[in-house]
Amino acid sequence: MVDAHQTFVIVGGGLAGAKAAETLRAEGFTGRVILICDERDHPYERPPLSKGYLLGKDERDSVFVHEPAFYAQAQIELHLGQPAVHLDPAAKTVRLGDGTLIAYDKLLLATGAEPRRLDIPGTGLAGVHHLRRLAHAERLRGVLASLGRDNGHLVIAGAGWIGLEVAAAARSYGAEVTIVEPQPTPLHGIIGPELGALFTDLHREHGVRFHFGARFTEIVGHDGMVLAVRTDDGEEHPAHDVLAAIGAAPRTALAEQAGLDVVDRADGGGIAVDAALRTSDPYIYAAGDVAAADHPLLDTRLRVEHWANALNGGPAAARAMLGQDVSYDRIPYFFSDQYDLGMEYSGYAPPGSYDQVVCRGDVGKREFIAFWLSEGRLLAGMNVNVWDVTGTVQQLIRSGAPLDPGKLADPSVPLESLLP
Ligand SMILES: Cc1cc2nc3c(=O)[nH]c(=O)nc-3n(C[C@H](O)[C@H](O)[C@H](O)COP(=O)(O)OP(=O)(O)OC[C@H]3O[C@@H](n4cnc5c(N)ncnc54)[C@H](O)[C@@H]3O)c2cc1C
Repeated sequence: MVDAHQTFVIVGGGLAGAKAAETLRAEGFTGRVILICDERDHPYERPPLSKGYLLGKDERDSVFVHEPAFYAQAQIELHLGQPAVHLDPAAKTVRLGDGTLIAYDKLLLATGAEPRRLDIPGTGLAGVHHLRRLAHAERLRGVLASLGRDNGHLVIAGAGWIGLEVAAAARSYGAEVTIVEPQPTPLHGIIGPELGALFTDLHREHGVRFHFGARFTEIVGHDGMVLAVRTDDGEEHPAHDVLAAIGAAPRTALAEQAGLDVVDRADGGGIAVDAALRTSDPYIYAAGDVAAADHPLLDTRLRVEHWANALNGGPAAARAMLGQDVSYDRIPYFFSDQYDLGMEYSGYAPPGSYDQVVCRGDVGKREFIAFWLSEGRLLAGMNVNVWDVTGTVQQLIRSGAPLDPGKLADPSVPLESLLP
């Protein structure tokens, strides 16, 4: 039972943490809610940082999860600009960087992820960037604008979502862009080679150069400035600035220090949680990018680094903290916008898991839905410049029903009619 004298503490003020705090109040929790974040800004959403905000189209105010006044109104106590540096599960306390000790009855770890760093010479040069925080986006925006003005060159390590979105933004400023990617196609580990080629063509049409099958070995500089990037195939790419977009690592330090179960990095990392998002300590939960959760539907442990998982996982953890029966089984979902291409992807189909990819619609015009199948069952779907189909795609995945690939590919057959 949860009573009014309890204190629920949330470490991490991103989308998952902010939504969890909101949910605790919406579900009627009247005890103390304390939200701790090492960033000084109120909780904000990160997708605009590589899209509208980076492009200068979205106002700064538009990225925040709630208006600042919301927290006081909802009696959510904020400790901003303060890292939680020590967690003692036996004493049920968290210590902040300034020494403040906070006792909790239940705790949520929503510490997110941080950009992976390149481990090569030259990463300390001033023109080497990462993109995770508002301050990074603000700095990068200025960099892209000046590269555009001066015909400057941005070299990006990694053709993942962030690398591609920043490439699109950089081209819109007029910067020269080269992407270096070890795999033969962009987004290789996520959507496989078949659909990865779509993004190669899209970006090439917009003037991005790709250098596939290679890795950075050195960032060459002079007087603190970036001059070039060297790759392991002996090539040298002129560069004024570099973006390292080689993925994110879950921020598990606090969980590890506290002795909670953590998944091996080789298996994706993250704080191990069950389907109710509870860690190996019954009073501690984890949600968002940092949580590697048992997925009841997909029957695997999954760490999902996407907006929708923070949006829904934070509230699910909050309900579990309140003693509700939670089985978090959302189908993984993400979206991206690059140039005039908008897409949504639902499901989970890394290379090796599927045996067939079929498309419905006009792939050439980039208006279609791609389906990844295994033995006729739908694992994932991606709609490109086609909208309002996500619900049906997710129902088809959830049903697990065998599908006729011919009908899936035929736009004259309504998708809904394929539901069992
Ligand atoms: C540039 C960018 C673009 C993206 N675009 C998309 C997109 O288009 N579509 C999509 O689906 N997803 C996108 N994502 C992913 C999405 O933003 C993340 O999945 C989401 O932010 C995860 O939210 P979170 O609350 O779990 O973690 P975070 O947003 O990382 O928040 C965690 C917070 O906890 C803080 N913290 C960590 N450790 C401590 C500590 N010890 N003490 C105190 N505070 C701590 C962190 O500083 C951070 O503020 C994007 C991500 C980035 C970086």
